Amino acid sequence: MNRSSMLDHLADTSVEWDVIIIGGGATGLGTAVDASTRGYRTLLLEQADFGQGTSSRSTKLVHGGVRYLRNGEIGLVRDSLRERGRLLRNAPNLVSALPFVVPGYRWYERFFYGVGLTLYDLLAGKLGIGSTEHLSQAGVLERIPNLRRTGLHGGTLYWDGQFDDARLAIAMARTAAEKGATVINHIKVGELIKENGRVRGVAAVDQQSGTEYRVTGKVVINATGVFTDEVRQLDDPKAGKVIEPSQGIHLVLDREFLGGDTAIMIPSTDDGRVLFAIPWHGRVVLGTTDTPGVPVELEPRPQEEEIAYLIEHAGRYLTKAPNRADVRATFAGLRPLVRPKSESGTTASISRDHSLFISESGLVTIAGGKWTTYRKMAEDTVNKAAEVGGLPTQPCRTADLTLLDRPAAEAMTFDDPSWLEKLHPDFPWRIADVVAAVRFEMAQTVDDVLSRRTRLSFLDEAAASQCAPQVQEIIDRELAGP
Ligand SMILES: Cc1cc2nc3c(=O)[nH]c(=O)nc-3n(C[C@H](O)[C@H](O)[C@H](O)COP(=O)(O)OP(=O)(O)OC[C@H]3O[C@@H](n4cnc5c(N)ncnc54)[C@H](O)[C@@H]3O)c2cc1C
Repeated sequence: MNRSSMLDHLADTSVEWDVIIIGGGATGLGTAVDASTRGYRTLLLEQADFGQGTSSRSTKLVHGGVRYLRNGEIGLVRDSLRERGRLLRNAPNLVSALPFVVPGYRWYERFFYGVGLTLYDLLAGKLGIGSTEHLSQAGVLERIPNLRRTGLHGGTLYWDGQFDDARLAIAMARTAAEKGATVINHIKVGELIKENGRVRGVAAVDQQSGTEYRVTGKVVINATGVFTDEVRQLDDPKAGKVIEPSQGIHLVLDREFLGGDTAIMIPSTDDGRVLFAIPWHGRVVLGTTDTPGVPVELEPRPQEEEIAYLIEHAGRYLTKAPNRADVRATFAGLRPLVRPKSESGTTASISRDHSLFISESGLVTIAGGKWTTYRKMAEDTVNKAAEVGGLPTQPCRTADLTLLDRPAAEAMTFDDPSWLEKLHPDFPWRIADVVAAVRFEMAQTVDDVLSRRTRLSFLDEAAASQCAPQVQEIIDRELAGP
């Protein structure tokens, strides 16, 4: 995957693309994988880096969504569990099974959650990844030594999937490219080209060089997450809003706050939110919040009240209560929730199912959903796009498609022994990972490397700033060429 050869394909004005996708998050990349494996000539344009929007800022769970059972969304849970099973099979190096404990501090909780989670197992059917079990107090503490024991009756153990979201996004970009798609990061679509009222292409500006490209295609797909309405308004300035963004933040703490390799799931805090404490890359990720009414921006910032909320709630369940100084990193993401037809309730109650919109001009918009269901979202989108664009019918081929899920550095031969040196003593990433990120994974900036090819910025902000100058030097050298 090389950016300058991708730009050469883009500059070839003799090409008419079958499918042009705007947005390189889970949804757009999934759509590019689907369209390219059906044999359609596919172009994907991402204004920043692959996964830089919401798709690198999730809780990193491949899950059915236990809590949606409470809302009666059985169909959504069953579909998500099916996709969970497929993803574990198709990207085994990036997705793994993780045990969770729901601690019971009230006598009835063990029974209540035991029943709900047994239904969850049943809905997973043959693609189940582990069975729900009742745990005694000692059983809970064996798995989570640092859980508060006062009032603890026992708990329920269940299984879900865990993944590295940004790495999966890169794996999907590489897979789409291998199947013939042209996928380009740091290029922003600013105009939809129309002919006789139909969308016939896009104009996009390379954010690195300032060059503008104008390309035509049979169908254009808007997969821009919380930016969906901005792109819909490029099509029709009067288009109504369909997205209701909601911010969720996470805190990253040292592993010792949790202890063990089992995650905690608190199904309902005081205000009805779900709280997770999850082991991830040697740290603990704590989340999340659900804050409506936030501005749409590429780099949303955690609000101090959100940070205080998570610290306070973690302190209720952990024997060693964290404080602000214990927080190694924070990250915030915006959920691209589709507004319900009737306005009601909080964003936490809005369905996580996805929606497709076809505008009069033929712009296909895919919005909502979640990481776990990206493949099914892509299948539905490409089915509809093929119809709108008059493309020859081809079946979806992604249900059993293995993704290229090992970092490019693993396949690289080392020109220089110094490449084996670590960037930072506390983390596994080496100079070779930076070189490979630029050469084979289209990293262009320090943030691309430290946030999404490695996950250093998400794990330890201080360590990431220490490494930044060295990473910048390597990037400059690599981009300057031989
Ligand atoms: C806090 C939080 C926790 C979550 N946890 C989970 C979880 O554990 N499991 C799960 O399954 N789901 C989870 N989700 C949901 C999941 O992360 C999202 O549904 C998913 O990442 C959305 O992907 P997307 O591609 O639609 O949006 P995005 O990832 O935001 O991608 C849209 C892309 O479009 C690009 N773009 C916008 N405008 C333009 C333009 N004009 N030109 C070119 N590109 C453009 C943006 O830069 C962006 O990269 C979570 C979400 C949040 C916020």
